[in-house]
Amino acid sequence: MEKRENGQERTEGVSREAFLEMYREMGISREVLDFAGGILEELAGRFQDIDKMAEYNQLKVLRAMQRRRVSEAHFAATSGYGYNDMGRDTLEEVYADVFHTEAALVRPQITCGTHALTVALHGNLRPGDELLSISGKPYDTLEEVIGIRPSSGSLAEYGITYRQVDLKEDGSFDLEGIRQAISERTAMVEIQRSKGYQTRPTLSVSQIGEAIAFVKSIRPDIICMVDNCYGEFVEPLEPSDVGADMTVGSLIKNPGGGLAPIGGYIVGTKKCIQNASFRLTCPGLGQEVGANLGLIQSFYQGLFLAPTVVASALKGAIFAANLYERLGFAVVPNGQEPRHDIIQAVEFGSPEGVIAFCKGIQAASPVDSHVTPEPWAMPGYDSDVIMAAGAFVQGSSIELSADGPIKPPYAVYFQGGLTWPHAKLGILKSLQQLADEGVVSL
Ligand SMILES: *Cc1c(COP(=O)(O)O)cnc(C)c1O
Repeated sequence: MEKRENGQERTEGVSREAFLEMYREMGISREVLDFAGGILEELAGRFQDIDKMAEYNQLKVLRAMQRRRVSEAHFAATSGYGYNDMGRDTLEEVYADVFHTEAALVRPQITCGTHALTVALHGNLRPGDELLSISGKPYDTLEEVIGIRPSSGSLAEYGITYRQVDLKEDGSFDLEGIRQAISERTAMVEIQRSKGYQTRPTLSVSQIGEAIAFVKSIRPDIICMVDNCYGEFVEPLEPSDVGADMTVGSLIKNPGGGLAPIGGYIVGTKKCIQNASFRLTCPGLGQEVGANLGLIQSFYQGLFLAPTVVASALKGAIFAANLYERLGFAVVPNGQEPRHDIIQAVEFGSPEGVIAFCKGIQAASPVDSHVTPEPWAMPGYDSDVIMAAGAFVQGSSIELSADGPIKPPYAVYFQGGLTWPHAKLGILKSLQQLADEGVVSL
């Protein structure tokens, strides 16, 4: 509850007592509310900036939908081959407009972000080519796709080699290293915008643009692909605005706005998108097939909501960063840094901290709030992992969610929040749980 200049509470019709009572019923103590309230007051200016970003990106999406004359007929379900699916074709034009690219592939047949990246890679690389990652180790699930960890059907099995240039100590691109790593065989450069589960900083769109310009100055024909997961609508520009030939992401993250129940997108040059579509479906058929199965309206509506949903998630991330920083924990990004994705890491330094935080997020969920998350030995991880998610869409990480491996430095990775009030409650609940368990004292 903000204060007016005259000292009165500004609650737009809800009294302070009603709020206190409601939060009490939701299990939030007066101490937690007061502590959080002080921090929120300081964030008012920052939140205004985020609302401005949402406004700008909302207009960008609306402009594209209006230009492409989106109409009710585009929401019809199609089945079978899906020939002449107007809704699907128009949605792809809308995505191409939003990202300022020649073409787009946006499909429910793309099952997740990893799949979208796989289609982009396999569709555009040929035996003898080399893939060069210039932002260090790619996202874990891509290791088997590329063949960094041997796997059946990997790029490596098709004779496509892989090289990597790590980011420098300060998180910037190693331009000299990149220059040395590029050979005649380098066919594609991969850049991952978000930090994923690493501790490096997330790359800004402008940093990505500089790296692409550098690569193109050496060899203009190298395809530059950006893994844009978690980055969409956080900034006014996207990687596709600064030279990326392909920009790739998941619809159960930012651009699906929480409504898309599945899907992925690839936007970029005509040639790259056609190659990707020939891999997703078949050579020759490409984008001509692929029925929307009644999911298309959720893709449109999700994209429409995405800018404000991303703003809610960003507010949650910034609130959490400032709250836990104030309590003495290391947070990445820190409370003041500009944002380039929606992920927030908090280092608790103890298993109890990670577990209590996740319990709080779970308890604040609209779905499965009565469930208590526990650490477990998830396949593919070298320690127990705890996950909190009470999502409408399974595994959706644009919805409020948190996870943490139970190993030093005992960091929790937290993201999402379809609405700011929900993100706020999740963070208050996490703090309440930490306070109740004596991990922090207010
Ligand atoms: C989530 C993510 C992926 C993979 O997406 P999935 O939908 O989980 O397959 C790839 N790269 C980054 C940076 C991500 O955050």
